[in-house]
Amino acid sequence: AKQNGRNCYKFFTQEIAETIKQRQKIENGLRSSLENHQFTLAFMPIFNCDNDDIVAIEALLRCKAPELEGIGPDQFIPVAESTGLIKEIDLWVLEHALQRLVVLQQQHNFTGKMCINISGVELHNENFPPLVKRLLETHKVNPCSVELEVTETALVAGDKTCLETLNALNELGVSLALDDFGTGYTAFSQLIHYPADCLKIDRSFVSDLFSEKEPRSKMVLIIQNLAELYGLRVIAEGVETEEQLNYLKRHGCDWAQGYFLSRPLLWDDLIKRLAE
Ligand code: C2E
Ligand code: CA
Ligand code: CA
Ligand code: CA
Repeated sequence: AKQNGRNCYKFFTQEIAETIKQRQKIENGLRSSLENHQFTLAFMPIFNCDNDDIVAIEALLRCKAPELEGIGPDQFIPVAESTGLIKEIDLWVLEHALQRLVVLQQQHNFTGKMCINISGVELHNENFPPLVKRLLETHKVNPCSVELEVTETALVAGDKTCLETLNALNELGVSLALDDFGTGYTAFSQLIHYPADCLKIDRSFVSDLFSEKEPRSKMVLIIQNLAELYGLRVIAEGVETEEQLNYLKRHGCDWAQGYFLSRPLLWDDLIKRLAE
């Protein structure tokens, strides 16, 4: 048993050392990506369930640095958040997404929204709303064509700064979406305090729809009803089958995105798709 314990200990230290090494590698990759302009955006169309028109486009961060090959935002955003690099990254994303939006509007007759993910870290940063304001002005973007997505888990119940930041963003005229909705712990009664315009049903609930996991699959209906009660728009994400899409349409979902409708696209492919 003693021997076993020692092996176990050795195993964990190795594992922890690996994790630290991996995080360090990601951190270095992020720093050099910022310096060497290695970030790009992918664009995922969002469709109106009523007529299948593209009504919005979600900007998704990609990194082409060789050090970060195979590592997606799900892995590198948390590292960016814990190292403080996220502020610079969020700024880069905002700046570029707005630039692209202007091109879409001026050259491709796009009238929908650009949906931009922001880190929960920004909700505790009182300089963030003025920064967004300045960027909207610099790029001459109408705030109503921008939606900021913040994950539900970033909301801290009763946190004053968090609420003030959301209110300040709301006052700029941008719309606010609660991303990955249903995975956090927002008491439904709390929802009324947030100036949200939209709930994004987390992908996991959409993929559970026809997967026999009965209790969770009810989440789509619960969120849909909640949104109706509070007058919020609903976006379903992660729609991968026609069956899921039809179900969502039948139950009054407003907008949808997912591989069944379109993968995230490179800029040139987005332009082609918009011209179809
Ligand atoms: P998210 O905001 O929930 O974005 C949706 C993610 O789900 C994207 O992954 C997208 O490619 C993926 N997805 C969409 N539809 C489907 C589908 O039908 N099936 C499957 N299997 N996947 C689907 P991605 O691009 O890897 O982004 C992961 C997460 O990283 C995002 O989740 C978001 O939380 C974060 N992220 C991405 N871009 C940014 C950014 O610019 N800024 C910040 N702060 N976070 C970002
Ligand atoms: Ca999102
Ligand atoms: Ca999401
Ligand atoms: Ca997510």
